Amino acid sequence: MIHLDPKFCFSIRDARKAARLSQSELAAEVGCKQSALSMFEQGAGTKLNDEVVQRLAAKFSIKLPSADASAAESPDMPPAALLPRPLPNAPVDRRGFCPNVHCPSHRVYEVDGRTFLKPDRAAQDPVGGRFCAVCGEILEHVCPTCGGPLHDGAVCSFCGSPYLALANNF
Ligand SMILES: [Zn+2]
Ligand SMILES: [Zn+2]
Repeated sequence: MIHLDPKFCFSIRDARKAARLSQSELAAEVGCKQSALSMFEQGAGTKLNDEVVQRLAAKFSIKLPSADASAAESPDMPPAALLPRPLPNAPVDRRGFCPNVHCPSHRVYEVDGRTFLKPDRAAQDPVGGRFCAVCGEILEHVCPTCGGPLHDGAVCSFCGSPYLALANNF
């Protein structure tokens, strides 16, 4: 396992935004889940396996802090081919949601001591745009976990995954 400090994670986030890629676009490209990338960008350096971290570093030409990659670590991510693909004919609401967990427009609530965030899609994307109207993050337009159409809740009604994954809930 490569030991990463949060600064490396933040530099990946900044590089992604500079490249104008959404979290799910980048996740698909390097072969991980959007939710794992989201938690990684919050500073949780262990949420992605070494191979994915190396692909991210190579893509953005960012130097890895310590490159003693012990390749024997078992990856906890499925290979890219097993990741869910958007459903071909699903009707998609034009409005997206903001995947930035720090976006001030999310509604915050707690259940059993866990914190959940509900995107405020009306504030984040009133018109079906590409960027969050509140914080400027690149919007997601389908459920990042299953590719299903979005609705105005906190959790996908198709696969049950929260739209916003908080690193400290796992
Ligand atoms: Zn936002
Ligand atoms: Zn889903």
